[in-house]
Amino acid sequence: MSPAEDPQALTARMARREARVNRLIAPDQPPGVIRPPAPDLVVRVVTCPTCGGDGADPPFEHWSVSRAETTLPTLSILGCEWLTPRAVLPLAVAAERGAMPSAYRTRAVALLDGCDLRAVDLSERWADALVADRGSPDGAGPWTLPAVTRVRGGGRHPMFAGPHPPASLGALNDLYLDVRLMALAEEGI
Ligand SMILES: [Zn+2]
Repeated sequence: MSPAEDPQALTARMARREARVNRLIAPDQPPGVIRPPAPDLVVRVVTCPTCGGDGADPPFEHWSVSRAETTLPTLSILGCEWLTPRAVLPLAVAAERGAMPSAYRTRAVALLDGCDLRAVDLSERWADALVADRGSPDGAGPWTLPAVTRVRGGGRHPMFAGPHPPASLGALNDLYLDVRLMALAEEGI
């Protein structure tokens, strides 16, 4: 098994990615112009097959929650998940640069979509392109948000693979949080 396929190496890379995107500068706004801190976006709630959660608590008030057709970008999130505003910073920066993919999802939704950890990692590469300022990512998405999530209205413990990770990924959560913390410290944040 190559190092790239090792679950611990994958987990560590995803943790460092989340730390790196935290260095992105939020879009500036001209004096006198007030606009929301994140682009317009439609939240797609995916009913959680484990706990039945099917609500939403978007981090921004102007985000709508809908299943209707839309021309806006979408973010699919489990009905029991909660995202911090900071988690969507890369998404806001991508929109500002005109490099906005049209469909995002959380890692939990990616896993539910049938992705293994390797596929989740690959679907987060758009954020690497953003940090490196390499323009638009390759591929068509959906793109996965490189961020921990928490249980909506409940636990504060950040989970890198969603509220109900498979046991193999749940066991890697401490590693993820440790690597993320170290990476943030190295970046001087
Ligand atoms: Zn759930």
